[in-house]
Amino acid sequence: MQLPQVNPIGAAVGKLAQRLSAVESESLPVGKTAGRILAQPLSADRDSPALDVSAMDGYALRIQDVHGQPLPVAGTTPAGSAPALLSGGTAVQIFTGAPIPQGADCVVRREDTTESPDQVTIHLPVGELVAGRNIRRRGENIRQGETVLEAGRALDCAAMAAMASFAPPHVRVHRRVRVTVLNTGDELAQPGEPVEDWQIRDSNGPTLQTWLEQLPWIDFVGRTRVADRPDVVRDALVEHTGKSDAVILTGGVSMGDTDYVPDAIRAIGGEIAFHRLPIRPGKPVLGASLDGRLILGLPGNPVSVAVTSRVFGQPLLSALAGRRPQPLRPSVTIQNPDTKTLDLTWYRLIQTKDQGQVGFVASKGSGDLVALAQSDGFVEVPPGQAGPGPWPLTLWT
Ligand code: AMP
Ligand code: MG
Repeated sequence: MQLPQVNPIGAAVGKLAQRLSAVESESLPVGKTAGRILAQPLSADRDSPALDVSAMDGYALRIQDVHGQPLPVAGTTPAGSAPALLSGGTAVQIFTGAPIPQGADCVVRREDTTESPDQVTIHLPVGELVAGRNIRRRGENIRQGETVLEAGRALDCAAMAAMASFAPPHVRVHRRVRVTVLNTGDELAQPGEPVEDWQIRDSNGPTLQTWLEQLPWIDFVGRTRVADRPDVVRDALVEHTGKSDAVILTGGVSMGDTDYVPDAIRAIGGEIAFHRLPIRPGKPVLGASLDGRLILGLPGNPVSVAVTSRVFGQPLLSALAGRRPQPLRPSVTIQNPDTKTLDLTWYRLIQTKDQGQVGFVASKGSGDLVALAQSDGFVEVPPGQAGPGPWPLTLWT
């Protein structure tokens, strides 16, 4: 008998998300809300369309008048003008989006007519002229007072169309989530500067900054390198949790003698919700809360940071932001599958190719910066499974 599968990753994220407090909301002019998270449902302030309008460029008329062809053209109604009045036995030229003249019951497309300056002949069989043809009815998209957007919706370009169309002058949105990145490690040097052979340039800081700056509902506060000393890690945590809603650390969460992050979190009163999960890369990942704020410890290897920031950081920062839980990711089929399996959840780097194909990127492991740089994202392969999938996909951008 197959037992129901418990997903330890989803469970860990869910447990920690419950301890996080969404950031406060603020009232902003609707034009300043793009990219924010809506803090109240948005209901339509008017019907959409607000009147019966034409779906085509053509002629508005009464079906019963068509037998008396050609019809005199009594006027023109461009978009943006008030509804005209149709007198019996005539047609009114009309353009897409313009209000239907009172008395008209259908619109005939321009393509279905022969036009002269002051009259029009319709070429459709009368049987095809049904009332409402090419008319968008008042309220057919939504009625005034109905909900257009739910609270927790990210105001992306699609949602902003509804905001612009239906919102009052000011709307409540969540303020941005303040995030600080702390990169631990005595081996770290500044990118672009000379390095000794025993040093590495900090790549995790730039990886996280680039991702966080893509999210318009995040306020990226900054990033700092932190030495591998217990008091330094602790002091940095105290300072930065004091002025951020979330602190993301890299390195220092594994079993090494210089891995001071877990103890430092406990020392400042943080509550660890998970530490070490059955995943690769990123097994030592740690999630904690401190008075409703997030502390996320990511293992230092570059591929681990890129992957775990998405797997854990994205949903947990979303919870802080007041964002609704996201639906499952789309899945893709791999064009160069193999038979390798792990008894862990395996995040494998992928590259997108021409014709929409997706393939695994050969990788030496979680330290392989080059494979990371050649990838466009990763797929999630469940424990014990192999093959082409389809597997859930995350893209870097
Ligand atoms: P740690 O999790 O601290 O044991 O780090 C694991 C490994 O990740 C280190 O040995 C480094 O090779 C690498 N690493 C740690 N921090 C960074 C960083 N900020 N940028 C690039 N690589 C790093
Ligand atoms: Mg380290």
